[in-house]
Amino acid sequence: MTPSTEKQWVLARLLADELRALGARDVRVSDFCMVYATIPGNLPDDAPRAPVIGFLAHVDTSPAVTGTNVNPIVHHRYEGGDIVLPGDPSQVITVAQNPLLRDMIGDDVITTDGTTLLGSDDKAGVAAIMTLVDTLGQNPSIPHGTLKIGFTADEEIGLGIDKFDVAAFGAAFAYTVDGGPLGEINDETWSARTATKTFRGKSTHPGTAKGVMINSIHALARFLTMLPREMTPEATEGRVGFIHPYTGVVDVEESSIKILLRDFDTSGLDSQERMLRDLVSTTAAEFPDVRIATDVKENYKNMKVVLADHPELIANAIAAAREAGVAPYMNPIRGGTDGSKLTFRGLPCPNIFTGGHNFHSKLEFNSRRGLEKTAQTLVQLVRIFASPDREIRVASAQSAASP
Ligand SMILES: [Zn+2]
Repeated sequence: MTPSTEKQWVLARLLADELRALGARDVRVSDFCMVYATIPGNLPDDAPRAPVIGFLAHVDTSPAVTGTNVNPIVHHRYEGGDIVLPGDPSQVITVAQNPLLRDMIGDDVITTDGTTLLGSDDKAGVAAIMTLVDTLGQNPSIPHGTLKIGFTADEEIGLGIDKFDVAAFGAAFAYTVDGGPLGEINDETWSARTATKTFRGKSTHPGTAKGVMINSIHALARFLTMLPREMTPEATEGRVGFIHPYTGVVDVEESSIKILLRDFDTSGLDSQERMLRDLVSTTAAEFPDVRIATDVKENYKNMKVVLADHPELIANAIAAAREAGVAPYMNPIRGGTDGSKLTFRGLPCPNIFTGGHNFHSKLEFNSRRGLEKTAQTLVQLVRIFASPDREIRVASAQSAASP
């Protein structure tokens, strides 16, 4: 059921109330705890039409670490060095593992006390979007087209976004504000499939099994030992895909294994599938009495396939970050976002940084500059999309961003 937790309602309703107070229109919370709102544009009638831009952030936090009773700690004018978290001194944010801390000297670093998540994923995104709405309300001289605001539930368990109403949202495209370090913009996610291999044998009493029992466990084990070790998540990084057997059941009669297939290209997924089929053939030759079945399901696809047709979304995000004083860079996500599904449902949806680090961990942190620069980037972004020379900006940002 969406939402999976009761407390998401509390934040969703609070945000809806604040949006109304800030002058947003058509504010509503859906039956699935999704907040929808409209910020009317302020362009003169004779101005060129600006596209309707959506901004999305999620209200839930990762179930990996508790987010109950968060006690955020602000380290004013951080002087450098490792940060020991006072609630649990075994939790230390080290410069060795977080070299970007060196760029944060003099900034106000925000951490947990070491006992919970910070929840900057994705409260920082929520805060940046609310700050955008507030800033536009207080500064009517900033030109902008119509904006659509969406706060989603259950992003972290991957189930909420199916309940998000793209048509009712009404944006031409959107940005999830759910990314990492300051400046990082994502227009690529994995293409993702899950393969299930089922091995069927025949159970008998082991005392009278000779010549009769067919133990599927041995066939599964043989198959698994042939998986290349250099293609695991533990052995790959960057743009290299992986094959990840992650759960299964073993039994004499029937054994099965689920395997995540991940690559940035569907052709890479196809060759992963071919390799698994070859290994099944080898296994079948060695265990001719075991019947082996394969089932492959698609989870999501690399959003780049669609976003490549909308270069202005990335070009303007890059330009906006620069105008906010941030050095932008592109990075593929070795995972998925709400946007990876939305993009294929007709709402192209790249991902923008929040300034956050170490998501899903007690060592999660952000900073004052991270939060401020994220909000400023969003303000610049709506301004750029409303400016008559935005096509020119697209061209110059693209040439500046290409290597
Ligand atoms: Zn997130």
